Amino acid sequence: MIGSDRIKFYSTNHKASKVTLSEALLNGQAPDRGLYMPETIPQITRDELNSLREISYPEIARFVLSKYTAGTEIDPLLPGLCRDAYNFDIPLEHVTDRRYIMRLDRGPTASFKDFAARMMARMFGVLRKISDPPLIILTATSGDTGSAIAQAFYQIPNIRVMVLFPPEEVSDRQRRQMTTLGDNITIVALDGQFDNCQALVKQAFADPELKHIDLTSANSINIGRLLPQIVYYVYAYVRLAGNGEPITLCVPSGNFGNMMGALLAKHMGVPIKKIVVVTNANDEVPVYLNTKQYNKIVPSRVCISNAMNVGHPSNFARVVDLYGGWMDETGLIRKEPDLDRMLKDLWSVSIDDSETRSTIQKAWRDNQLLLEPHGAVGWAGMTHYIEATGEKGLMVSVETAHPAKFPEEIQALLGFEPDVPESLKAVESKQEHYLSLPNDYQQFRALLNERHSV
Ligand SMILES: *Cc1c(COP(=O)(O)O)cnc(C)c1O
Repeated sequence: MIGSDRIKFYSTNHKASKVTLSEALLNGQAPDRGLYMPETIPQITRDELNSLREISYPEIARFVLSKYTAGTEIDPLLPGLCRDAYNFDIPLEHVTDRRYIMRLDRGPTASFKDFAARMMARMFGVLRKISDPPLIILTATSGDTGSAIAQAFYQIPNIRVMVLFPPEEVSDRQRRQMTTLGDNITIVALDGQFDNCQALVKQAFADPELKHIDLTSANSINIGRLLPQIVYYVYAYVRLAGNGEPITLCVPSGNFGNMMGALLAKHMGVPIKKIVVVTNANDEVPVYLNTKQYNKIVPSRVCISNAMNVGHPSNFARVVDLYGGWMDETGLIRKEPDLDRMLKDLWSVSIDDSETRSTIQKAWRDNQLLLEPHGAVGWAGMTHYIEATGEKGLMVSVETAHPAKFPEEIQALLGFEPDVPESLKAVESKQEHYLSLPNDYQQFRALLNERHSV
Protein backbone atom coordinates (compact mmCIF):
# COMPACT_ATOMS: atom_id res chain seq x y z
CA MET A 1 0.00 0.00 0.00
CA ILE A 2 2.61 2.52 1.07
CA GLY A 3 3.68 4.60 -1.88
CA SER A 4 0.82 3.60 -4.15
CA ASP A 5 -1.12 6.77 -3.52
CA ARG A 6 1.82 9.11 -3.41
CA ILE A 7 1.73 12.26 -5.47
CA LYS A 8 4.83 12.73 -7.60
CA PHE A 9 6.38 16.10 -8.25
CA TYR A 10 7.82 17.12 -11.62
CA SER A 11 10.10 20.00 -12.52
CA THR A 12 8.72 22.94 -14.51
CA ASN A 13 11.80 22.52 -16.77
CA HIS A 14 10.79 18.87 -17.44
CA LYS A 15 14.38 17.56 -17.59
CA ALA A 16 14.82 16.30 -14.04
CA SER A 17 13.15 13.07 -12.93
CA LYS A 18 9.93 13.04 -10.94
CA VAL A 19 10.33 12.81 -7.19
CA THR A 20 8.30 12.15 -4.05
CA LEU A 21 7.25 14.97 -1.73
CA SER A 22 10.09 14.09 0.66
CA GLU A 23 12.68 14.42 -2.11
CA ALA A 24 11.14 17.63 -3.43
CA LEU A 25 11.29 19.12 0.07
CA LEU A 26 14.92 18.24 0.64
CA ASN A 27 16.05 19.21 -2.89
CA GLY A 28 14.40 22.64 -2.81
CA GLN A 29 14.99 23.41 -6.47
CA ALA A 30 14.98 20.60 -9.06
CA PRO A 31 18.41 19.63 -10.47
CA ASP A 32 17.45 21.10 -13.87
CA ARG A 33 16.83 24.42 -12.06
CA GLY A 34 13.07 24.15 -12.50
CA LEU A 35 10.52 24.28 -9.69
CA TYR A 36 8.61 21.28 -8.40
CA MET A 37 4.88 21.00 -9.09
CA PRO A 38 2.44 18.22 -8.09
CA GLU A 39 1.74 15.89 -11.01
CA THR A 40 -1.92 15.64 -10.07
CA ILE A 41 -3.66 18.25 -7.99
CA PRO A 42 -5.70 16.45 -5.34
CA GLN A 43 -9.36 17.46 -5.13
CA ILE A 44 -11.47 18.54 -2.16
CA THR A 45 -15.16 17.72 -2.62
CA ARG A 46 -18.09 19.88 -1.50
CA ASP A 47 -18.94 17.32 1.19
CA GLU A 48 -15.40 17.44 2.48
CA LEU A 49 -15.50 21.25 2.57
CA ASN A 50 -18.74 21.06 4.57
CA SER A 51 -17.11 18.70 7.03
CA LEU A 52 -14.39 21.30 7.72
CA ARG A 53 -16.76 24.08 8.82
CA GLU A 54 -16.71 23.36 12.53
CA ILE A 55 -13.18 22.08 13.05
CA SER A 56 -10.07 23.92 14.25
CA TYR A 57 -7.36 25.42 12.05
CA PRO A 58 -4.81 22.67 12.90
CA GLU A 59 -7.40 20.06 11.92
CA ILE A 60 -8.16 21.83 8.63
CA ALA A 61 -4.40 21.99 8.00
CA ARG A 62 -4.06 18.28 8.65
CA PHE A 63 -6.90 17.53 6.26
CA VAL A 64 -5.57 19.69 3.41
CA LEU A 65 -1.89 18.78 3.78
CA SER A 66 -2.56 15.06 4.05
CA LYS A 67 -3.80 15.19 0.45
CA TYR A 68 -0.13 15.78 -0.42
CA THR A 69 1.66 13.85 2.33
CA ALA A 70 -0.35 10.60 1.98
CA GLY A 71 2.04 7.66 1.78
CA THR A 72 5.07 9.58 3.11
CA GLU A 73 6.69 9.25 6.51
CA ILE A 74 5.34 12.72 7.38
CA ASP A 75 1.70 11.67 7.15
CA PRO A 76 1.26 9.69 10.40
CA LEU A 77 2.79 12.56 12.39
CA LEU A 78 0.84 15.32 10.65
CA PRO A 79 -1.88 15.92 13.29
CA GLY A 80 0.76 16.68 15.94
CA LEU A 81 2.86 18.79 13.58
CA CYS A 82 -0.18 20.93 12.70
CA ARG A 83 -1.22 21.42 16.33
CA ASP A 84 2.30 22.40 17.23
CA ALA A 85 2.87 24.75 14.26
CA TYR A 86 -0.48 26.55 14.37
CA ASN A 87 -0.87 27.54 18.00
CA PHE A 88 -1.83 31.17 17.29
CA ASP A 89 -4.95 33.10 16.17
CA ILE A 90 -5.97 33.67 12.55
CA PRO A 91 -8.48 36.54 12.76
CA LEU A 92 -11.05 36.99 10.00
CA GLU A 93 -12.11 40.57 10.54
CA HIS A 94 -15.33 41.88 9.01
CA VAL A 95 -14.79 45.33 7.50
CA THR A 96 -17.82 46.40 5.48
CA ASP A 97 -20.49 44.84 3.24
CA ARG A 98 -19.24 41.37 2.31
CA ARG A 99 -15.57 42.34 2.71
CA TYR A 100 -13.14 40.85 5.20
CA ILE A 101 -9.49 41.04 6.17
CA MET A 102 -7.69 37.83 7.11
CA ARG A 103 -4.80 38.62 9.45
CA LEU A 104 -1.90 36.23 8.92
CA ASP A 105 0.35 38.17 11.28
CA ARG A 106 -0.10 36.49 14.65
CA GLY A 107 2.75 33.97 14.43
CA PRO A 108 6.02 34.38 16.35
CA THR A 109 7.66 36.68 13.76
CA ALA A 110 4.46 38.55 12.86
CA SER A 111 4.41 37.89 9.13
CA PHE A 112 2.51 35.31 7.08
CA LYS A 113 5.83 33.56 6.40
CA ASP A 114 5.45 31.87 9.80
CA PHE A 115 2.68 29.66 8.34
CA ALA A 116 4.98 28.02 5.82
CA ALA A 117 8.25 28.19 7.75
CA ARG A 118 6.84 26.51 10.84
CA MET A 119 5.34 23.60 8.90
CA MET A 120 8.35 23.20 6.65
CA ALA A 121 10.70 23.07 9.64
CA ARG A 122 8.63 20.33 11.22
CA MET A 123 8.51 18.33 7.99
CA PHE A 124 12.29 18.61 7.65
CA GLY A 125 12.62 17.47 11.25
CA VAL A 126 10.72 14.28 10.35
CA LEU A 127 12.69 13.62 7.16
CA ARG A 128 16.21 14.15 8.53
CA LYS A 129 17.40 11.26 10.70
CA ILE A 130 19.77 11.81 13.60
CA SER A 131 22.29 9.57 11.83
CA ASP A 132 22.27 11.79 8.72
CA PRO A 133 25.01 14.37 8.33
CA PRO A 134 23.87 17.85 9.36
CA LEU A 135 21.77 19.73 6.83
CA ILE A 136 22.58 23.39 6.34
CA ILE A 137 19.76 25.69 5.34
CA LEU A 138 21.12 28.73 3.63
CA THR A 139 18.97 31.81 3.12
CA ALA A 140 19.42 35.41 2.11
CA THR A 141 16.87 37.78 3.59
CA SER A 142 15.65 41.33 3.36
CA GLY A 143 13.83 40.80 6.65
CA ASP A 144 10.78 38.58 7.00
CA THR A 145 12.04 35.33 5.48
CA GLY A 146 15.18 35.17 7.59
CA SER A 147 13.38 35.74 10.88
CA ALA A 148 10.57 33.28 10.08
CA ILE A 149 13.04 30.58 9.01
CA ALA A 150 15.41 31.17 11.94
CA GLN A 151 12.57 31.00 14.48
CA ALA A 152 10.97 27.99 12.83
CA PHE A 153 14.15 25.88 12.63
CA TYR A 154 15.51 26.94 16.04
CA GLN A 155 16.72 23.83 17.92
CA ILE A 156 15.52 21.34 15.31
CA PRO A 157 18.08 18.51 15.69
CA ASN A 158 20.68 17.99 13.01
CA ILE A 159 19.69 21.07 11.04
CA ARG A 160 21.73 24.25 10.99
CA VAL A 161 20.53 27.54 9.59
CA MET A 162 22.65 30.30 8.15
CA VAL A 163 20.99 33.59 7.25
CA LEU A 164 22.74 36.41 5.38
CA PHE A 165 21.28 39.87 5.75
CA PRO A 166 22.15 43.38 4.56
CA PRO A 167 22.44 45.42 7.80
CA GLU A 168 21.39 48.67 6.12
CA GLU A 169 18.15 47.25 4.72
CA VAL A 170 16.80 45.40 7.76
CA SER A 171 15.00 47.15 10.62
CA ASP A 172 16.22 46.82 14.22
CA ARG A 173 13.21 44.75 15.11
CA GLN A 174 13.67 42.41 12.15
CA ARG A 175 17.36 41.94 13.00
CA ARG A 176 16.64 41.19 16.64
CA GLN A 177 14.14 38.51 15.68
CA MET A 178 17.03 36.60 14.05
CA THR A 179 20.02 37.49 16.21
CA THR A 180 18.58 36.73 19.65
CA LEU A 181 18.28 32.96 19.05
CA GLY A 182 21.78 31.43 18.89
CA ASP A 183 22.19 27.63 19.14
CA ASN A 184 21.81 26.11 15.63
CA ILE A 185 21.09 29.51 14.06
CA THR A 186 23.97 31.51 12.58
CA ILE A 187 23.23 35.03 11.45
CA VAL A 188 25.64 36.90 9.21
CA ALA A 189 25.59 40.63 8.54
CA LEU A 190 27.09 41.01 5.10
CA ASP A 191 28.70 44.28 4.19
CA GLY A 192 26.51 44.82 1.13
CA GLN A 193 22.99 44.92 -0.28
CA PHE A 194 20.32 42.21 -0.38
CA ASP A 195 21.40 41.39 -3.95
CA ASN A 196 24.96 40.67 -2.69
CA CYS A 197 23.57 38.31 -0.04
CA GLN A 198 21.54 36.50 -2.65
CA ALA A 199 24.50 36.27 -5.03
CA LEU A 200 26.71 34.62 -2.38
CA VAL A 201 23.98 32.11 -1.56
CA LYS A 202 23.55 31.23 -5.25
CA GLN A 203 27.30 30.87 -5.67
CA ALA A 204 27.46 28.47 -2.72
CA PHE A 205 24.70 26.28 -4.20
CA ALA A 206 26.62 26.04 -7.48
CA ASP A 207 30.08 25.53 -5.89
CA PRO A 208 31.57 22.05 -6.59
CA GLU A 209 33.95 22.53 -3.66
CA LEU A 210 30.97 22.54 -1.31
CA LYS A 211 29.51 19.26 -2.61
CA HIS A 212 30.46 17.53 0.67
CA ILE A 213 27.95 19.71 2.53
CA ASP A 214 24.20 19.07 2.43
CA LEU A 215 22.91 22.51 1.56
CA THR A 216 19.32 23.43 0.89
CA SER A 217 17.31 26.56 0.47
CA ALA A 218 14.28 27.62 2.44
CA ASN A 219 12.94 30.31 0.15
CA SER A 220 9.68 29.99 -1.70
CA ILE A 221 11.09 27.97 -4.58
CA ASN A 222 10.70 25.09 -2.11
CA ILE A 223 7.34 23.33 -2.51
CA GLY A 224 7.29 23.06 1.28
CA ARG A 225 6.76 26.81 1.43
CA LEU A 226 3.68 26.62 -0.80
CA LEU A 227 1.58 23.75 0.50
CA PRO A 228 0.98 25.24 3.97
CA GLN A 229 -0.17 28.44 2.22
CA ILE A 230 -3.13 26.62 0.66
CA VAL A 231 -4.61 25.96 4.06
CA TYR A 232 -5.61 29.47 5.17
CA TYR A 233 -7.57 30.03 1.97
CA VAL A 234 -9.55 26.83 2.61
CA TYR A 235 -10.05 28.04 6.18
CA ALA A 236 -11.35 31.47 5.02
CA TYR A 237 -13.76 29.76 2.65
CA VAL A 238 -15.21 27.27 5.12
CA ARG A 239 -15.56 29.87 7.86
CA LEU A 240 -17.18 32.60 5.77
CA ALA A 241 -18.96 31.12 2.77
CA GLY A 242 -22.33 29.51 3.28
CA ASN A 243 -24.16 27.32 0.74
CA GLY A 244 -21.31 27.01 -1.72
CA GLU A 245 -21.13 30.76 -2.30
CA PRO A 246 -17.87 31.49 -4.13
CA ILE A 247 -15.20 33.72 -2.61
CA THR A 248 -12.86 36.27 -4.16
CA LEU A 249 -9.35 36.52 -2.67
CA CYS A 250 -6.99 39.51 -2.78
CA VAL A 251 -3.32 38.67 -2.29
CA PRO A 252 -0.53 41.28 -1.97
CA SER A 253 2.29 39.65 -3.91
CA GLY A 254 6.06 39.79 -4.32
CA ASN A 255 7.60 36.44 -5.13
CA PHE A 256 4.13 34.94 -5.76
CA GLY A 257 4.36 32.16 -3.19
CA ASN A 258 1.31 33.36 -1.30
CA MET A 259 -0.86 33.70 -4.42
CA MET A 260 0.28 30.21 -5.53
CA GLY A 261 -1.30 28.91 -2.31
CA ALA A 262 -4.59 30.53 -3.35
CA LEU A 263 -4.25 29.24 -6.90
CA LEU A 264 -3.63 25.67 -5.75
CA ALA A 265 -6.67 25.95 -3.45
CA LYS A 266 -8.75 26.96 -6.46
CA HIS A 267 -7.39 24.11 -8.57
CA MET A 268 -8.15 21.70 -5.70
CA GLY A 269 -11.80 22.61 -6.13
CA VAL A 270 -12.41 25.29 -3.49
CA PRO A 271 -15.08 27.64 -4.95
CA ILE A 272 -12.79 30.62 -5.48
CA LYS A 273 -14.31 33.01 -7.99
CA LYS A 274 -11.25 35.13 -8.66
CA ILE A 275 -7.78 35.69 -7.28
CA VAL A 276 -6.88 39.36 -7.32
CA VAL A 277 -3.08 39.50 -7.46
CA VAL A 278 -1.87 42.87 -6.28
CA THR A 279 1.72 44.08 -6.65
CA ASN A 280 3.43 47.29 -5.60
CA ALA A 281 5.20 49.35 -8.31
CA ASN A 282 6.97 46.15 -9.42
CA ASP A 283 4.27 45.62 -12.01
CA GLU A 284 5.84 43.04 -14.36
CA VAL A 285 2.97 40.57 -13.89
CA PRO A 286 0.02 42.99 -14.18
CA VAL A 287 1.71 44.33 -17.34
CA TYR A 288 2.11 40.79 -18.69
CA LEU A 289 -1.55 39.94 -18.09
CA ASN A 290 -2.61 43.08 -19.92
CA THR A 291 -0.11 43.09 -22.80
CA LYS A 292 1.21 39.48 -23.08
CA GLN A 293 4.73 40.94 -22.79
CA TYR A 294 6.81 39.72 -19.85
CA ASN A 295 9.78 41.87 -18.86
CA LYS A 296 11.65 41.56 -15.58
CA ILE A 297 12.23 44.77 -13.68
CA VAL A 298 15.98 45.10 -12.98
CA PRO A 299 16.85 46.36 -10.45
CA SER A 300 13.55 45.97 -8.63
CA ARG A 301 11.72 49.16 -7.61
CA VAL A 302 12.03 50.22 -3.98
CA CYS A 303 8.62 50.59 -2.29
CA ILE A 304 7.44 50.91 1.31
CA SER A 305 5.93 47.40 1.06
CA ASN A 306 9.56 46.25 1.01
CA ALA A 307 8.94 42.48 1.22
CA MET A 308 7.30 42.74 -2.22
CA ASN A 309 10.13 44.54 -4.01
CA VAL A 310 10.55 41.75 -6.54
CA GLY A 311 11.15 42.49 -10.20
CA HIS A 312 10.86 38.86 -11.29
CA PRO A 313 8.80 36.58 -9.03
CA SER A 314 10.35 33.09 -8.98
CA ASN A 315 6.98 31.44 -8.50
CA PHE A 316 5.56 32.91 -11.69
CA ALA A 317 7.16 29.94 -13.49
CA ARG A 318 4.70 27.77 -11.55
CA VAL A 319 1.73 29.90 -12.61
CA VAL A 320 2.81 29.69 -16.25
CA ASP A 321 3.22 25.92 -15.90
CA LEU A 322 -0.24 25.50 -14.40
CA TYR A 323 -1.72 26.97 -17.60
CA GLY A 324 0.29 24.82 -19.97
CA GLY A 325 3.20 27.20 -20.65
CA TRP A 326 6.91 27.08 -19.86
CA MET A 327 8.99 29.82 -18.26
CA ASP A 328 12.64 28.81 -17.80
CA GLU A 329 14.90 29.63 -14.85
CA THR A 330 16.05 32.88 -16.49
CA GLY A 331 12.49 34.19 -16.70
CA LEU A 332 12.13 33.61 -20.42
CA ILE A 333 8.75 32.34 -21.62
CA ARG A 334 9.60 29.41 -23.90
CA LYS A 335 6.01 28.37 -24.39
CA GLU A 336 3.03 30.66 -24.00
CA PRO A 337 0.49 29.59 -21.39
CA ASP A 338 -3.25 29.62 -22.10
CA LEU A 339 -3.71 33.26 -21.18
CA ASP A 340 -7.49 33.23 -21.59
CA ARG A 341 -7.80 30.48 -19.03
CA MET A 342 -5.33 32.26 -16.73
CA LEU A 343 -7.39 35.45 -16.95
CA LYS A 344 -10.52 33.57 -15.93
CA ASP A 345 -8.82 32.81 -12.61
CA LEU A 346 -6.61 35.86 -12.06
CA TRP A 347 -7.02 39.62 -12.13
CA SER A 348 -4.02 41.79 -11.44
CA VAL A 349 -3.23 45.41 -10.63
CA SER A 350 -0.24 47.41 -9.40
CA ILE A 351 -0.47 49.94 -6.52
CA ASP A 352 2.17 52.64 -6.03
CA ASP A 353 3.43 54.02 -2.71
CA SER A 354 1.25 57.10 -2.70
CA GLU A 355 -1.90 55.00 -3.13
CA THR A 356 -0.59 52.55 -0.50
CA ARG A 357 -0.28 55.42 1.97
CA SER A 358 -3.68 56.93 1.15
CA THR A 359 -5.24 53.47 1.51
CA ILE A 360 -3.82 53.13 5.05
CA GLN A 361 -5.37 56.50 5.92
CA LYS A 362 -8.71 55.88 4.25
CA ALA A 363 -9.16 52.38 5.72
CA TRP A 364 -8.53 53.77 9.20
CA ARG A 365 -10.74 56.84 8.73
CA ASP A 366 -13.68 55.09 7.08
CA ASN A 367 -13.61 51.62 8.65
CA GLN A 368 -11.29 51.69 11.68
CA LEU A 369 -9.30 49.11 9.74
CA LEU A 370 -5.60 49.13 10.67
CA LEU A 371 -3.36 48.10 7.77
CA GLU A 372 0.40 48.11 7.18
CA PRO A 373 1.89 48.74 3.72
CA HIS A 374 1.65 45.15 2.35
CA GLY A 375 -1.93 44.61 3.48
CA ALA A 376 -2.81 48.08 2.17
CA VAL A 377 -1.58 47.11 -1.30
CA GLY A 378 -3.96 44.13 -1.20
CA TRP A 379 -6.87 46.20 0.09
CA ALA A 380 -6.34 48.89 -2.57
CA GLY A 381 -6.31 46.13 -5.21
CA MET A 382 -9.69 44.96 -3.93
CA THR A 383 -11.10 48.47 -4.38
CA HIS A 384 -9.84 48.56 -7.98
CA TYR A 385 -11.35 45.16 -8.66
CA ILE A 386 -14.74 46.23 -7.28
CA GLU A 387 -14.65 49.38 -9.42
CA ALA A 388 -13.78 47.38 -12.53
CA THR A 389 -16.31 44.57 -12.07
CA GLY A 390 -19.03 45.72 -9.67
CA GLU A 391 -18.37 42.64 -7.55
CA LYS A 392 -20.71 42.50 -4.52
CA GLY A 393 -20.03 38.99 -3.24
CA LEU A 394 -17.78 37.67 -0.50
CA MET A 395 -14.23 39.03 -0.66
CA VAL A 396 -11.25 38.43 1.59
CA SER A 397 -8.04 40.44 1.42
CA VAL A 398 -5.03 39.17 3.32
CA GLU A 399 -2.88 41.18 5.72
CA THR A 400 0.60 39.66 5.59
CA ALA A 401 2.45 41.51 8.35
CA HIS A 402 1.65 43.05 11.71
CA PRO A 403 1.28 46.86 11.65
CA ALA A 404 3.69 47.06 14.60
CA LYS A 405 6.47 46.08 12.19
CA PHE A 406 6.05 49.52 10.57
CA PRO A 407 5.77 51.94 13.51
CA GLU A 408 7.30 54.97 11.73
CA GLU A 409 5.04 54.70 8.68
CA ILE A 410 1.88 54.22 10.75
CA GLN A 411 2.86 57.04 13.10
CA ALA A 412 3.39 59.40 10.16
CA LEU A 413 0.09 58.46 8.49
CA LEU A 414 -2.25 57.90 11.42
CA GLY A 415 -0.63 59.76 14.30
CA PHE A 416 -0.16 56.82 16.66
CA GLU A 417 2.06 53.76 17.01
CA PRO A 418 0.38 50.35 16.82
CA ASP A 419 0.44 48.11 19.90
CA VAL A 420 3.41 45.78 19.81
CA PRO A 421 2.56 42.07 20.17
CA GLU A 422 4.32 40.08 22.92
CA SER A 423 6.36 38.07 20.42
CA LEU A 424 7.98 41.24 19.07
CA LYS A 425 8.45 42.79 22.52
CA ALA A 426 10.26 39.72 23.82
CA VAL A 427 13.26 40.17 21.52
CA GLU A 428 13.94 43.76 22.67
CA SER A 429 15.71 42.74 25.86
CA LYS A 430 17.59 39.66 24.64
CA GLN A 431 21.28 39.49 23.85
CA GLU A 432 22.14 39.64 20.11
CA HIS A 433 24.67 37.33 18.44
CA TYR A 434 25.78 37.74 14.86
CA LEU A 435 28.84 37.68 12.69
CA SER A 436 29.96 40.34 10.27
CA LEU A 437 31.52 39.47 6.94
CA PRO A 438 32.84 41.51 4.03
CA ASN A 439 31.18 40.82 0.68
CA ASP A 440 33.75 38.15 -0.18
CA TYR A 441 32.92 34.64 -1.36
CA GLN A 442 36.15 32.99 -0.11
CA GLN A 443 35.50 34.12 3.45
CA PHE A 444 31.87 33.10 3.22
CA ARG A 445 32.86 29.62 2.02
CA ALA A 446 35.36 29.26 4.86
CA LEU A 447 32.59 30.10 7.30
CA LEU A 448 30.27 27.50 5.76
CA ASN A 449 32.97 24.84 6.05
CA GLU A 450 33.62 25.77 9.64
CA ARG A 451 29.90 25.65 10.59
CA HIS A 452 29.52 22.34 8.85
CA SER A 453 32.30 20.68 10.83
CA VAL A 454 31.48 21.88 14.37
C1 LIG B 1 7.12 37.89 1.72
C2 LIG B 1 6.04 38.88 1.97
C3 LIG B 1 5.08 39.19 0.98
C4 LIG B 1 5.14 38.62 -0.42
O1 LIG B 1 4.76 37.27 -0.44
P1 LIG B 1 5.10 36.39 -1.73
O2 LIG B 1 4.71 35.02 -1.37
O3 LIG B 1 6.58 36.53 -1.94
O4 LIG B 1 4.32 36.96 -2.86
C5 LIG B 1 4.07 40.07 1.31
N1 LIG B 1 4.00 40.63 2.52
C6 LIG B 1 4.90 40.37 3.50
C7 LIG B 1 4.77 41.06 4.80
C8 LIG B 1 5.95 39.47 3.26
O5 LIG B 1 6.83 39.22 4.23
